[in-house]
Amino acid sequence: MSSLNKILKKELDIIKERGLYKSERLIFSPQNSKIIIKGNNEVLNFCANNYLGLSNHPDILNAAINGIKKYGFGLSSVRFICGTQTIHDELEKQISKFLNKENTILYTSCFDANGGLFETLFNENDAIISDQLNHASIIDGIRLCKAKRFRYANSNMEELESILKRTAKFKQRIITTDGVFSMDGFIAKLDSITSLAKKYNAIVHVDDSHATGFIGPSGKGSADYHNVLDKVDIITSTLGKALGGASGGFTSASNEIINTLRQRSRPYLFSNSLAPNIVCASLKALEIIQKDKNLQGQLKKNTIFFRNEIKKIGFEIKDGEHPIVPIMIRDAKIAQKFASDILKSGIYVIAFSYPVVPQNEARIRVQISTSHTLKNLKFAIKIFKKYGEKYNLI
Ligand SMILES: *Cc1c(COP(=O)(O)O)cnc(C)c1O
Repeated sequence: MSSLNKILKKELDIIKERGLYKSERLIFSPQNSKIIIKGNNEVLNFCANNYLGLSNHPDILNAAINGIKKYGFGLSSVRFICGTQTIHDELEKQISKFLNKENTILYTSCFDANGGLFETLFNENDAIISDQLNHASIIDGIRLCKAKRFRYANSNMEELESILKRTAKFKQRIITTDGVFSMDGFIAKLDSITSLAKKYNAIVHVDDSHATGFIGPSGKGSADYHNVLDKVDIITSTLGKALGGASGGFTSASNEIINTLRQRSRPYLFSNSLAPNIVCASLKALEIIQKDKNLQGQLKKNTIFFRNEIKKIGFEIKDGEHPIVPIMIRDAKIAQKFASDILKSGIYVIAFSYPVVPQNEARIRVQISTSHTLKNLKFAIKIFKKYGEKYNLI
């Protein structure tokens, strides 16, 4: 074996010994609240980002199929050579309208949107101020940029303000945050962040991947929730979660910012156009969520029901309103066993432990969807109760 393979094998063995090896479970059906796993077993899925249940919505499937028929399978090009169709233009316009921003640029993922954001807009004269719990794609995007980096503890507004006070000498300053922190389901304090930004003349970037389409009174995301949509300068988000769940991402901001990204953002310039079927399906998803307010209402109802019931039977959760419901188990091994036990009873959830979450804060992260029925939710609660008792958790 080559020496690289030997080294890697050792490292992989260590990952396995620590119980941190991630294996992928095969799904034999489309994504939905019910999925088929190995052995033709039907299980209820409580770990998808399919918040509005659109991943397998018939109108979205049809839009994708019609999109292929009308616009073909792929563009075989980046956007600026010969990869821009009318539908790309249309989707960018519709997203801008939805988020009340001047302009939008599509990427093949939100990871790319974040990867191509900071380096394009900022340089060594600037400062980037980042929440400690920001998504990996923000962290990597910042790494590519020459600006000076500053980090504040999760949602700690005193620390953010103290950084703003001592970074006045920088030319541009940007505060960057997830709109929703995915391990806790907490919504970023965008009311305080935007007012601090105004006070200290900084701009604000929010990655709203876990919020676009369903958080806030009009489902426009975490800035909508805090009623500060006009005070957030840059929004990045994904088409791969609530908005149909295929893939793709985008950045929405002023004309100047978006036009600069079109000129210089590397994941945009040097990576293929978003496939036509995804563009057409995403247009349909945007249309559906704006027309059918019931989707969001049902998600809210389901979330409140589940959060209340799981607390009632004695589990400790991280409080909040988001359909991400972290159920605290604390012990990593028990969390693992719990997840694998309840899978056998038909409930598919994932246990998260260190280093994804802090030591001794292992948890089961449940994600609620519009597509869960009351019966599904009640069944999940019943199973949680049974195994909560078995492991003395409740
Ligand atoms: C899921 C997620 C991403 C990645 O989105 P993709 O479009 O799948 O690349 C980026 N940021 C946050 C906060 C996310 O939750």
